[in-house]
Amino acid sequence: MTTRREKSEQVVIEGRVVADFGREFLVEFADRRQVVCTRKGKRQDATCGDFVEVRLTGAAQGSIERVGTRRNLLYRSDQWKEKAIAANVDQVVILLAPKPPFSEAFLNMSLVACEAARLPVIVALNKADLPEHVEARRTLALYERIGYTIITMSAKFDVSPLLPHLEKKLTLLVGQSGMGKSKTVNALLLSDVARVGELTASRDSGAHTTTFSRFYRLDRDTAIIDTPGFQSFGLFHLTEDQIGEAMREFRPFLGRCKFNDCAHIEEPGCEVIAATGRGEVSAPRLSFYQVLIEQHRELHEQHPEWSR
Ligand code: GDP
Ligand code: ZN
Repeated sequence: MTTRREKSEQVVIEGRVVADFGREFLVEFADRRQVVCTRKGKRQDATCGDFVEVRLTGAAQGSIERVGTRRNLLYRSDQWKEKAIAANVDQVVILLAPKPPFSEAFLNMSLVACEAARLPVIVALNKADLPEHVEARRTLALYERIGYTIITMSAKFDVSPLLPHLEKKLTLLVGQSGMGKSKTVNALLLSDVARVGELTASRDSGAHTTTFSRFYRLDRDTAIIDTPGFQSFGLFHLTEDQIGEAMREFRPFLGRCKFNDCAHIEEPGCEVIAATGRGEVSAPRLSFYQVLIEQHRELHEQHPEWSR
């Protein structure tokens, strides 16, 4: 280590988290230099997309001293826990495919997460080259009626329908496995595009096998965050009211139910349920919501220690 580097140990540099490995983070500085960073203490509260202040502790190592205020924050969840997945994004692309068939529950949960984070969503139906896509597209008409943008594309043959939507934005890309997310990321990253987050600074091998999310620059102003191994969005941190608000088509009826604290399950005088009876809210969306609330209550009862 040179003297100059030793001196730089005290320097605090602003950067952005471009890869989240759970315990370690890759931070990129304005000059595109990247360093592997730890976050002191138990709170691993940095995530991909975060603006951070880093204190250099070595040639390509640092420690995240401060995480900047976030415009928004999304969580991922598995069976056991909820963890930050990305911050400061402009929008989310939910990637679906007709084969294997996408899960409508996954779509609905993702929509709730994005609405709760106040993020615009694009629903991208991949594998448009397969004949099964016609039926899948029909299923999505409901979501289009509620106001979501639906596009069809093929990671294999043509990702161009997606491109204008990505332009000059930071987009979080999510999808269940098998939908074609890797293929989409690869198609977007035409081979000569610089891959942000290629871990040249990797130390002990195997330490970085699990990547939670990763930032890829497509051009100067356009980037995506990929989410390898993503299963679903975390919704545990939301309140029941927030979940209700996240159901777009419920909004005209919220606050008009007989009871102020109506959860739209089976309460008398519920305007959301009445609207469903009139066909103004779709019955499958209402039942998705009701099941979600039930699961939410169960989870909170099982894990009171998680509740904030
Ligand atoms: P991931 O699990 O979401 O990352 O999915 P992959 O990118 O690994 O793709 C899953 C499978 O779907 C692979 O066999 C891909 O070749 C296939 N696939 C991905 N995109 C398309 C597409 O647009 N059309 C067709 N026909 N197959 C695709
Ligand atoms: Zn109600």
